[in-house]
Amino acid sequence: METILGIDLGTTNSEVSVIHGNDVVVIEKDGHRLLPSVVGIDLAGNLLVGHPAKNQAILYPERTVKSIKRKMGEDVRIKLGDREYTPPEISAMILRTLRSYAEESLGQKVTKAVITVPAFFNDTQREATRLAGELAGLDVVRIINEPTAASLVYNSNSTLRETLLVYDLGGGTFDVSIVRVEDGVLEVLASHGDTHLGGDDFDQLLFDYVCEAFKKQYKTDLRETPVAVSRVLQAVEEAKKRLSTEPFTQIKEEFITEKDGASLHLDMELSRHQYEEQIFPLLEKTLTCLNDALNDAQLHPDDIDKVIMVGGASRTPIVHQLLESRVGNKLHGEIDPDLCVTMGAAIQGGLISGAKVGRVLIDITPHTLGTSVFDSRVNSPFVFSPIIKRNTPVPCSRSNVYGTVFDNQESVEVNVYQGEADDVRQNALIGEFLLTGLAKVPRNNQIICRFDLDINGILHVTAIEKNTGRAENITVENALAEHRPEANRLFRDHLNSFFAGEETIPDESEKEEEDSESTIDDKDFANQLGLADGWEERYAKEAALIQRASAFISKVTGDDRKDLETRIRELVDAVNRNDSDQITSLVSQLDDLVYYLEDSV
Ligand code: AMP
Repeated sequence: METILGIDLGTTNSEVSVIHGNDVVVIEKDGHRLLPSVVGIDLAGNLLVGHPAKNQAILYPERTVKSIKRKMGEDVRIKLGDREYTPPEISAMILRTLRSYAEESLGQKVTKAVITVPAFFNDTQREATRLAGELAGLDVVRIINEPTAASLVYNSNSTLRETLLVYDLGGGTFDVSIVRVEDGVLEVLASHGDTHLGGDDFDQLLFDYVCEAFKKQYKTDLRETPVAVSRVLQAVEEAKKRLSTEPFTQIKEEFITEKDGASLHLDMELSRHQYEEQIFPLLEKTLTCLNDALNDAQLHPDDIDKVIMVGGASRTPIVHQLLESRVGNKLHGEIDPDLCVTMGAAIQGGLISGAKVGRVLIDITPHTLGTSVFDSRVNSPFVFSPIIKRNTPVPCSRSNVYGTVFDNQESVEVNVYQGEADDVRQNALIGEFLLTGLAKVPRNNQIICRFDLDINGILHVTAIEKNTGRAENITVENALAEHRPEANRLFRDHLNSFFAGEETIPDESEKEEEDSESTIDDKDFANQLGLADGWEERYAKEAALIQRASAFISKVTGDDRKDLETRIRELVDAVNRNDSDQITSLVSQLDDLVYYLEDSV
């Protein structure tokens, strides 16, 4: 069988893959599968392609060319060292390098390739790409659209009629395409994008943010020193990537510059939240493109069967959240978003050469894993907070941050759930533990909850108090297997723990006062209420309010406490009687009281 290379000639990075046996194999060189699309000439006149060229870019910009893809099809010359080159000539240097990596890895000469281009490329740009291939000694057997290639990876063996939305957020460009698949034929119905929007812009925002903070602290602008610029840019890009899996990260660069003969160091913490705030306006632009593509294709979000995530920057968690709120829970990023397009090109090559291409198989978690929110921003304890989303390749690690609800809260309960419902009562509880001995500090003490899932389905869950490092963990043995929810038991457990005021640790002095004034023992409170079986399912809203209210029982004294207990009891009675008029009026009264207590306690 003839070998045909599948090449993603990208703006920021390029990759090559082939079909080997029935599998798609991405070619690796020195541990890298991404080749930066950067070309340069060093001071000795040697040609540099990829990482070495990227490394010299800041010091010798006049000897380095980046993002040549943006110029394909234009009648321009690019000066590099002493000579001028056309865009196809520069692209050919990248293609030649990829070809040599493939030949080295396969141990044979290869002359044919499928090369991908953005769906919006016009004929001139496509011709320029074909020419680049020829200059690299390749017979370009097909030029295919990038979204088509990505769709092939997710659909290579399907005969189903499907409508896919390909959301491709790379380093320098963004595009969104709608692809219809029918009887093995793929057609791009609509495509929109922005040729100057991507992860590099996110880096630039972070870069400015860090430089401004540094300037404020040291009255020194890092942007004035080229080496510092290059180091900070690299550091923020790495920080940005870490923030895709961690809620906080540290940006540390020692001896970054000097002032008055003294060395200065960059050392700053950045939270995912701060980062997301900065990039939000850019992400909104991508949603506008998505709407335009849907309008052009005359489709509604409900008509989309799968959303395929492509491009390195599509790993950013807030991108997933925004897309889910727009098109629902059908995101697929399980195939490495950096490699999806080259793999699709290789599959296309395989189809042309008659190879039998199997499904692209990867290990993923088939169910979402997360926790219930123990957070001061959420009123109900039943809100599910996903940490590892379904279809995430394993092994993987993800973490989120939550805040304690009360001042001086000494412990948090971590419940680990598996499932897809927003309400944890419909998901399966697969583990639970307490993190105790927290510092006596005001509410919103930050607790990091980290999930590490290995390939055998062993899940380690760790809760860490951010300020002190105090940590507790559990191991769940078979987190990949499906578990069944036990809604009623869970619900009752939650009620008991809430009514028992487990999360409320008042001052000892306050506690004595409360105990003497208490008309009901907190721990028996739930039992004494006499909740009828099954009511909780129908009355989730009321249950949430009762729990919210109950959290104040051990925090208030005297008439307030009696009033609170009476109103809770009346509401529970009304719910047990199914008395809807009474329920409405009592909910309103209890709501007012809770509102007052939230303000005054
Ligand atoms: P591409 O053009 O598809 O190779 O995408 C490259 C862009 O993706 C660069 O801006 C990278 O910094 C960005 N990127 C790569 N990995 C991640 C990640 N884990 N989280 C966020 N951005 C990433």
